Amino acid sequence: VNYYLQNIQTKAHLNAFVEVYTESALEQAARVDEKIASGKAGRLAGMVIGIKDVLVYKDHESNASSRILKGFISQYTATAIQRLIDEDAIIIGRLNCDEFGMGSSNENSVHGKVLNAADESRVPGGSSGGSAVAVQANLCTVSLGTDTGGSVRQPAAFTGLVGIKPTYSRVSRWGLIAYASSFDTIGVFSRNVRDNALVMEIMAGPDNFDSTASRKPVPKYSELLHFDKRVKVAYLKETIESPALQKEIKENTLSVLERLKEEGHEVEEVDFPLLKYVLPTYYILTTAEASSNLSRYDGVKYGYRSPNAHNLESMYKKTRSEGFGEEVKRRIMLGTFVLSASYYDAYFTKAQKVRRLIKEFTENLLNKYDYILLPTTPSTAFKFGEHSNDPVAMYLEDLFTVQASVSGVPALSLPNGKDHQGLPIGLQVMANSFKEAELYAFGNYLM
Ligand code: GLN
Repeated sequence: VNYYLQNIQTKAHLNAFVEVYTESALEQAARVDEKIASGKAGRLAGMVIGIKDVLVYKDHESNASSRILKGFISQYTATAIQRLIDEDAIIIGRLNCDEFGMGSSNENSVHGKVLNAADESRVPGGSSGGSAVAVQANLCTVSLGTDTGGSVRQPAAFTGLVGIKPTYSRVSRWGLIAYASSFDTIGVFSRNVRDNALVMEIMAGPDNFDSTASRKPVPKYSELLHFDKRVKVAYLKETIESPALQKEIKENTLSVLERLKEEGHEVEEVDFPLLKYVLPTYYILTTAEASSNLSRYDGVKYGYRSPNAHNLESMYKKTRSEGFGEEVKRRIMLGTFVLSASYYDAYFTKAQKVRRLIKEFTENLLNKYDYILLPTTPSTAFKFGEHSNDPVAMYLEDLFTVQASVSGVPALSLPNGKDHQGLPIGLQVMANSFKEAELYAFGNYLM
């Protein structure tokens, strides 16, 4: 803990942490030391973990990196965090992110931007940018992020880390500040596959506080990393041939496919004609869900209340106008529009139908093949400001990550070399729902 506290201080300019729990982390550490001495330590004894600012932790502040939640102190702890603490992990602090998880560059945060430690003039990715940089820069061992449409995988790719989005419903969402409830998942950033698998197996599983959490038993992922079989791998023609794909990312992805063939695996190219519908489907459905989820921030129940209001209605309006950032407002308006009576069928219902098609296509493919391989992102980390005036260009960053989110299947991002500027490249592996064990074992083999 002292080692990390020191690093957090020297790397403070990266702006990964928005709050460091110095005292409570040292207290937890002392308690864990005693437990280790008496031979009663949990499975995460001494693992130092940072948490994204969209997860709640009893008696601690959480803001979702939004002004509207300024001063909000939670009365309870997210299930995912509680399970880590119960196994003697040490929670070292709260990590910067895009406001309510909305963004791909961590530039939409009330706490300011986070710098990528590989090149400080570039974004760390988003929305879990702080979680990525905290592990990248050695400010903690492992961190928690959330992934609704790529927010763990894309920043993991931009910082050279392992990042997982588990199957939807694998980890309880109790204590996760909602963005789009039918997409939100809690994921893990780490340097290696084993730490990631261990943390995931402890967080995952049924929870009486979240009726949507799956009741399927959780395998011990970290003990199932051995991999010695021949597998069938598909790659999607439309992703590898996408004009948006950076040349070196294409090359590195193709060379992994080549290696797999050489090692005796079956590798096949598959058509994915629905690729062009994946992003619009994702953005229609997530903005719709966000507009509904974020209606609870009205100045009455949580955090910020405008001091400039003179009656109830102006209190709502002013609190929300002053409390939400630009991107969040854009999404609330878009989501409200697609849910409005006159447009509901044209957009929301249509997008639900397309979601089903994408999900069925993906699941069918994953019944035929063990894994789908694709790049995590079309480009490596971009410069600050490069996309911030063009929301659609920013949304295009999520082109390859949203398929797993729309379908609910798990996906893992692994480091896959660097481009000519020394910027990390990510490789993404998808498997069918609840196949995290297979995903981790294959990921470990690929690394
Ligand atoms: N960049 C995507 C978005 O803005 C994904 C965010 C996320 O996964 N939380 O919606």
